[in-house]
Amino acid sequence: MSIYEKVITMGHEQVVFFSDPTCNLKAIVAIHDTTLGPALGGTRMWQYASEEEALRDVLRLSKGMTYKAAVSGLHLGGGKAVIIGDPKKDKSEALFRSYGRFLESLNGRYITAEDVNITVDDIEHIYVETSNVVGVAKIRGGSGNPAPYTALGVFRGLEASCTQVWGDRSPSGKTVALQGVGSVGFELSKLLHEHGAKIIFTDISEKNIARMKEHIPSAEFVDPSKIYDVECDIFSPCALGASINDDTIDRIKSKIVCGAANNQLDKDYHGEELKKRNILYAPDYLINAGGLMNVSIEFEGWSDSKSRRMIDSIYNTTLDIFKLSNDEALPVNEATDRMAERRIASIKEIKTTTLGNVAHRFPGRSNK
Ligand code: NAD
Repeated sequence: MSIYEKVITMGHEQVVFFSDPTCNLKAIVAIHDTTLGPALGGTRMWQYASEEEALRDVLRLSKGMTYKAAVSGLHLGGGKAVIIGDPKKDKSEALFRSYGRFLESLNGRYITAEDVNITVDDIEHIYVETSNVVGVAKIRGGSGNPAPYTALGVFRGLEASCTQVWGDRSPSGKTVALQGVGSVGFELSKLLHEHGAKIIFTDISEKNIARMKEHIPSAEFVDPSKIYDVECDIFSPCALGASINDDTIDRIKSKIVCGAANNQLDKDYHGEELKKRNILYAPDYLINAGGLMNVSIEFEGWSDSKSRRMIDSIYNTTLDIFKLSNDEALPVNEATDRMAERRIASIKEIKTTTLGNVAHRFPGRSNK
């Protein structure tokens, strides 16, 4: 497929290629849809095997951000960027400042943030050149580490799932099999423990296993290869994507799958397969949107309480999606996409009639 065919098929508005040979910058920004507001999504730095692979990744990730922002009720569109390079060797102040100048030329249509291999220090260099960036350091009015907020959103999704299955939102007395106790998984396990759940966990990082054992001694460790076979009420994937796949789906013993990981379903049909097995799937890209919600309020002045209030809404939205899934006999993953698409379509209709562009709500923060 040609680049234009790909872009048209996936519905992107704009794809921009930036290069600056003086600092070896090669970046692609993909703006998928700005119906709801300016496109927000992180920049990822990766040593892609080819430019085609980088383009494929940025197109896929930016479309995902459109759906995530839409279903989360944010006034934001979807975008993402990739910098092609080795994060260990190719990072420099010059590269990030050059990248920041390029982003500034997009005039606020795309707002960036951290993603894989991009740190708060890198963001600081970008921020010198453009105000269209979030995830900046707390001392500059930013929102700091997103993991506790992401975990709070996952916890709200988990409460909604408990309500749906057992008629009681509390996970007290339930057994949760947690795959991955990194930044988000560890924060989630603290919330689960506080609320009386029993935790069985796995990880491959000795450091993160030791941290769990120190902070939550009652949590039981199992080998990574055994986590799918654990007798539990809730299976919570908080490590990598695609953990629900052809090999694992029949091993899962829980009534609920609810975790932080992105793209938990290896293939779309695994949503239907979970439904057939009477396992409730909490929509991954909604319940892990706490981090996105948290950075989205940086422009209006971030506060912890404002962020938590917003993230609490994940409980009701998750229940709404379960209802839509039941009403329209759709697997939860398809119901989530449908809800996102309906919101975008309804605003698109209004914008072509009366309201005009909502992007004025994000004038950009002055960093001058
Ligand atoms: P992290 O790297 O801090 O934690 C991941 C943990 O999983 C690590 O402890 C790692 O050792 C462990 N792990 C990796 N492979 C494993 C395996 N095969 N078996 C068991 N454990 C394994 O990452 P994170 O920031 O906690 O993110 C976790 C997931 O949530 C990722 O999929 C991420 O994309 C998603 N997510 C994170 C955020 C955020 O705010 N950090 C927001 C949205 C989505």
